[in-house]
Amino acid sequence: MPETWIDAYQPGSLIHRALARAREAHGGSLRESGDPYITHCLAVARTVHHFHLDEASVAAALLHDVVEDTKVTLGSLTEEFGSEIASLVEGLTKLKAVPYPAGDLKVENLRKFILSFSKDLRVLIVKLADRLHNMQTLSALPKERQEKLAWETTEIYAPLAYRLGMQQLSGELEDLAFPYLHPEEYRWLRRAIAGEFEARQVYAERLKPIITKLLGSFGIHPIAINARAKRYSSLYKKLQRYAMDLEKIHDLVAVRIIVPTVEECYATLGALHQQWPPLPGQFDDYIARPKPNGYRSLHTTVFCVNHEITEFQVRTQEMHEADELGIAAHWAYQQVKSSAGAAKRWAGVTNRSELQWVEQLRRWQQTFQSNRDFMDALQQDFFKDRIYVLTPANNVVDLPAGATPVDFAYRIHTDIGDQCVGARVNGQIAPLDRELRSGDMVEIITQRGKKPSEDWLRFVKTAQAKQHIKGSLRSRKRPLEKRSLASFLEIKIVNHDRPGYLREVTTVFAESRINITYVAGAADHRRRYSTVTLRCEPLLPAKLGRLLVALKRLPGTKEVHHRMGS
Ligand code: MN
Repeated sequence: MPETWIDAYQPGSLIHRALARAREAHGGSLRESGDPYITHCLAVARTVHHFHLDEASVAAALLHDVVEDTKVTLGSLTEEFGSEIASLVEGLTKLKAVPYPAGDLKVENLRKFILSFSKDLRVLIVKLADRLHNMQTLSALPKERQEKLAWETTEIYAPLAYRLGMQQLSGELEDLAFPYLHPEEYRWLRRAIAGEFEARQVYAERLKPIITKLLGSFGIHPIAINARAKRYSSLYKKLQRYAMDLEKIHDLVAVRIIVPTVEECYATLGALHQQWPPLPGQFDDYIARPKPNGYRSLHTTVFCVNHEITEFQVRTQEMHEADELGIAAHWAYQQVKSSAGAAKRWAGVTNRSELQWVEQLRRWQQTFQSNRDFMDALQQDFFKDRIYVLTPANNVVDLPAGATPVDFAYRIHTDIGDQCVGARVNGQIAPLDRELRSGDMVEIITQRGKKPSEDWLRFVKTAQAKQHIKGSLRSRKRPLEKRSLASFLEIKIVNHDRPGYLREVTTVFAESRINITYVAGAADHRRRYSTVTLRCEPLLPAKLGRLLVALKRLPGTKEVHHRMGS
């Protein structure tokens, strides 16, 4: 492939010097495909260039394998190209096997990689470009290595790309890995959708002039209307959720409309809905509430021409670019920030809170003692299917699927996790083991001095929560009281629902130094009463009596019942 992108750099400049150095270092060595090794360096650098990263990153991409694979040392790179480029290359260089037992090397390399990219995200982006080319040329490798690389790509690199907001890259990596991980499913899928797929694309093409005309009548002039085919890998994931029934997949081909402004995104949505009825529950406003990785667009599914169910994605050009570049858009922004217009243009995507996970990952990899725990934590907490829940202040918290209010509490703060006694989910009191769902608004009820309960280990999903709970149980070093583990006291309070009531209840418990182990609530809106159920350790009769009196005295309490349970 002619490398025309390199003409963007002056002859004799840094990039050309780095290329010459890489060419010389790799010499006549070949890749397994039989291509000269330098073609790999050029391909990685080309991708990094297209991500609009700076020159240091492009140079590091050209040199990324010289320390690992040739006689060139980091010292000589520092001398020749400076410490910035040398440290990028260092971050991209694997550890040598010598000091580590064979099984741990992979994990140690991953730790080192996380440490490097948490200091400098450019390391991660160059690594993703490296992985992209390795996956594009995977067919040349032996089967065993194909499977290993495909697995790593799906479990580690594609999720990382997704979390950087580089959704297209993430999808492409998954799609490249899919045929190697699930060869039979891949063949089945290709056969199964071939005809359907073509029909949908023809249909989407037919829609274009109809949409142009429709939007024109509203004074909207789209920049582009594209038919976008769903990727095999994401189609397969979705099919698994729908019992492999292709009929249920409505976005085999989605229509993407790009318009000049955010106002026109909403106007376009209005025009579509006015013309074709939307399917209930199929509308997502990722502009008002972007995905935690920064993704913005409007998604809707309508009964379109000939009652065909069709998905539309509406966005501006900036949102479209951000979808491709993700975090790299920050660098694109920095390079053009001299112009005030450009600064404004990127303002919407430069929300750093979406990158908190990087710091979190860095801190974590230090706290895990055993490599096994670390790998488990990575896979459970960072790379599994995610849900996105909201704090009362409307901040998005990103958790693994199946996470509970306790996981949420520990994600907010260790103290909140340790002291949580209950939760409100969407305003309703929910048990601590409730599985949260995307979009839930979660509020944690805490009790000062409360300690985590061993019972929580039964349902928490995040390794973070597990670690804290176990740590806290260990540090208490109290002998196990078999009696209190086996039985509990349950108190049911019928009350007039009013704000602050529950807090007063938990305060009563706190003042009596009673640990609440469980809280649940049910509201009866018709009669305006609600019921709060609490559990704690069994109490001596005198203490129980004082507690019941205190609860009955609270304004709003109607009835208090208690029973022993086991
Ligand atoms: Mn490489």
